[in-house]
Amino acid sequence: MRATSPERPGGESPRRSTAAEARAAFAHWVNEVPEGLPFGQIVVRALPGNGGYELRHVADVGIPDGDLVAHNEPRAAREIAKLTEEGEYRPLKSSPNLKRGWVLRVKDDRALYVAMNYLYPSGVAHWHLYRNGELEITNYRENAARQSGIYKRVQRLSDEGVQNTAKACCEDAVCLKKTLWDVDENTPLAADRGEGEIPCPEPCSIFVSLARRVRLFERENKRDLDAIGLSPSEKEDLSALVEAAATGSVKFAREAEFEEPLNERRMRYRKLTLVPKLRPVEDTAPEEG
Ligand code: SF4
Repeated sequence: MRATSPERPGGESPRRSTAAEARAAFAHWVNEVPEGLPFGQIVVRALPGNGGYELRHVADVGIPDGDLVAHNEPRAAREIAKLTEEGEYRPLKSSPNLKRGWVLRVKDDRALYVAMNYLYPSGVAHWHLYRNGELEITNYRENAARQSGIYKRVQRLSDEGVQNTAKACCEDAVCLKKTLWDVDENTPLAADRGEGEIPCPEPCSIFVSLARRVRLFERENKRDLDAIGLSPSEKEDLSALVEAAATGSVKFAREAEFEEPLNERRMRYRKLTLVPKLRPVEDTAPEEG
């Protein structure tokens, strides 16, 4: 069953013009704090006098304008959001890998809303609905029930698999959204939900893709373990890690390439499931003396 966010249970009377209301509410929120407010990895502030707004990376607050590339069209935000500092495509705009070095000034709240939607797609609308208790939240099992084709197998992912996937995929180190959804209506998510302003109302496509990979790992664990309890993909990941480390630097695979051993989220999942196998909890009983 779908739920709404907690401030206004029931979710009565859906908004007729969410975009316009979200735009106005966001501008009002920003206008209230002259020094600006953080949203994801940016700081937005109202410019004195002319009604315009300025956006910049949170790490660039205090950097002189002359050291930043200046833009004044909201569509510039699309290019800013597209690639990381290293030139990699960003499939998940809420990942904490927004590049620095730019400042964007836009003329009014409409242009601000357009820019925000490039930087954080649907972020302002979800922020507004959540604050009003009107954001529909879809839990993992409901989301999985809608999957088809090669993703249908995520329906069989165990609850433990969902929890570990969320810890690997959704915490603030890898995604700045506040995770609102649960495993199902009786099973809360155990992952740290995050502190950010941008709500996440349902598992995204990146999460579902990682969940599919984790389901493959679960199947391997049931039928393909060797004498010391390691699966083929666990051994593949360990080998890749040792080989990369031996070169002096570990280069991660692209963000959504979960079939690659050195993917950051895949490694975070291994930390939760493989490291305890390799390093069992030590016997803490005091030594006999
Ligand atoms: S499902 Fe997880 S990774 Fe995807 S947007 Fe939500 S919090 Fe971020």
